[in-house]
Amino acid sequence: MKIICIGRNYTKHIEELENEKPEHPVVFCKPDTAILLKKQPFFIPDFSDDVHHEVEILVKINRVGKYIDRKFAHKYYEEIGLGIDFTARDLQSQLKAKGLPWEKAKAFDGSAVIGNWMPKSEFKNVDDINFKLIKNDEVVQDGNTSLMLWKIDELIEYVSKYFTLKIGDIIFTGTPSGVGKVIANDRLKGYIEDNEVFSVAIK
Ligand code: ZN
Repeated sequence: MKIICIGRNYTKHIEELENEKPEHPVVFCKPDTAILLKKQPFFIPDFSDDVHHEVEILVKINRVGKYIDRKFAHKYYEEIGLGIDFTARDLQSQLKAKGLPWEKAKAFDGSAVIGNWMPKSEFKNVDDINFKLIKNDEVVQDGNTSLMLWKIDELIEYVSKYFTLKIGDIIFTGTPSGVGKVIANDRLKGYIEDNEVFSVAIK
């Protein structure tokens, strides 16, 4: 399986990192070794002093598809999740400045937290889902999928032009504002609406 991630999909997050608003979705990938195993803590890697949490709505692909039209994209997923795209921001900034790929900063081991999945049928509208990240009892990020520049079905249309989507592939749909540094002994909890879908200790 592969993980396809979208960058710069929420206006306020683009502003907080002083990035340019993209003309098309920003896309990068994480290998399956990036997945943080269930119930395991996240260990801050020794190559970064500034690892940020980015909470993101996830979509799990359940059919093989290529050049999927947005009208039919809803047939390609039945489950919605929430995860964290851990980012070594210091390293990413260096790579960005040199115009180099981001993988070392974004695709390292443990950088993809994947919470419990929820059936799509539990939501009236996938483009109106509330989600949030709580760090040590404080809400640090909250968002709603209506605020995405490119909605889930548009993202599936876009990424499937480049990558054949296969069963089990996961799309990280981008983070809202409020990204920030994690330090040892933090605990991060993710919620979709009122459901806790992950809890991760930072070491
Ligand atoms: Zn992200």
